Amino acid sequence: MNFNYTEEQLMLKDAVRKFSEKEIAPLVKWMESEKRTPRDLIKKIKDLGWCAIQYPEKYSGTGNTYVEYVIMQIEMARVYCSTACTISVNGMLGANIMKFATEEQKMKFLPEHLYGEGIGSFAFTEAATGSDPNALRTTCVRDGDEWVINGEKVFITNATMPGLMGIFCKDVEMGGKCTNIIIPKGTEGYSTPRIYDKMGMHGLEVSDVVLDNVRVPYENTTGGEAMRGKGFQVLLGSTQIGKLSVCAQAVGMAQAALEEAVNYSKVRVQRGKPISNFQTIQSLIGDMATDVMVAQQIVLATAFKASEGKELAADAARTRLFTSEAVHRVASKAMQVMGAYSYTTEFPIERIFRDAKLTEIYEGVNEIQRLIASTDLLR
Ligand SMILES: Cc1cc2nc3c(=O)[nH]c(=O)nc-3n(C[C@H](O)[C@H](O)[C@H](O)COP(=O)(O)OP(=O)(O)OC[C@H]3O[C@@H](n4cnc5c(N)ncnc54)[C@H](O)[C@@H]3O)c2cc1C
Repeated sequence: MNFNYTEEQLMLKDAVRKFSEKEIAPLVKWMESEKRTPRDLIKKIKDLGWCAIQYPEKYSGTGNTYVEYVIMQIEMARVYCSTACTISVNGMLGANIMKFATEEQKMKFLPEHLYGEGIGSFAFTEAATGSDPNALRTTCVRDGDEWVINGEKVFITNATMPGLMGIFCKDVEMGGKCTNIIIPKGTEGYSTPRIYDKMGMHGLEVSDVVLDNVRVPYENTTGGEAMRGKGFQVLLGSTQIGKLSVCAQAVGMAQAALEEAVNYSKVRVQRGKPISNFQTIQSLIGDMATDVMVAQQIVLATAFKASEGKELAADAARTRLFTSEAVHRVASKAMQVMGAYSYTTEFPIERIFRDAKLTEIYEGVNEIQRLIASTDLLR
């Protein structure tokens, strides 16, 4: 067992950190106020190959693993979680294609998906279903060589941007079983009527999607005929990867919160000395550093397991539970260290505190993760 980063992993970590600090950090203020992500920022990230990390070279990937993917996500989220998340949702659709699509579909969709102008979306949630997959209402009906899709999705990330979207539908001819279909966003009948105004993650574009007689080729069924009606399998496979991204984002934000608190404690003077001299501050920072260390180790271990193609459900749920609650604790304690200034927009910590809350909610709420975390033990 070797716990050290390889030379290549260190280079990637360093490159993502430098890029994030130089190219993303100066845009954060704009993204927070405009509630958008500049399209050319996404293109720059894609051009660097960071949307292609976890894919084999055969499919235009860079041939690395989920460990390198997680390293990239941690470093990006350390600077701005919204951008890391925008990229990770592209990765969720990519995981769908990689795991379940036919060879022909991989060759057709992946090169553009990994390097093109657009950014992918993953559309499962509806008004009546966030945690209950059986309550889907969006339908797909076969009409000759085409699918006709009707319905409404809610809370869909990147839906306002061009690219591909994997939609989970109730397949009418299959008695309502779930089928996953890949559509190009912007196809006739596709619209995004409402963009959400959120508590945090302002750079993440999230909207409702209306599908009004959207027609796409029947051959866009993810995995072809063999996977028709097996959409829940697709959902479970890709949300495990989605969860891994959320864990990495939690680690990146926790790392940033810790760094901010440590730096502040060394310069803030009370009673004639930096507050880092007070045991109360040392104790808070000790707790935070412990959470960051454990969170980082378990996310890398789960990423390693994902790279080996091992069954991930329970591990991903446990990792998600720990990391999301850890970043919550760390951000809150960082605010205690920084006192009143932490509550102002002068310091990024108030944004991290708001952004961190989402890690306990999306990709399946933590209450559901607690149930999944016990499945392999109680089987
Ligand atoms: C910023 C943001 C981006 C998102 N992006 C996407 C996206 O790109 N694609 C997408 O498909 N979705 C997306 N979502 C949706 C997100 O994944 C869902 O909101 C999430 O899974 C929770 O669903 P819900 O809000 O309907 O919660 P509900 O299912 O209504 O759950 C509410 C509460 O009820 C309890 N509960 C519900 N069911 C159970 C149960 N079986 N057992 C125990 N307790 C239960 C839990 O305590 C839970 O917290 C996004 C959401 C947000 C906020």
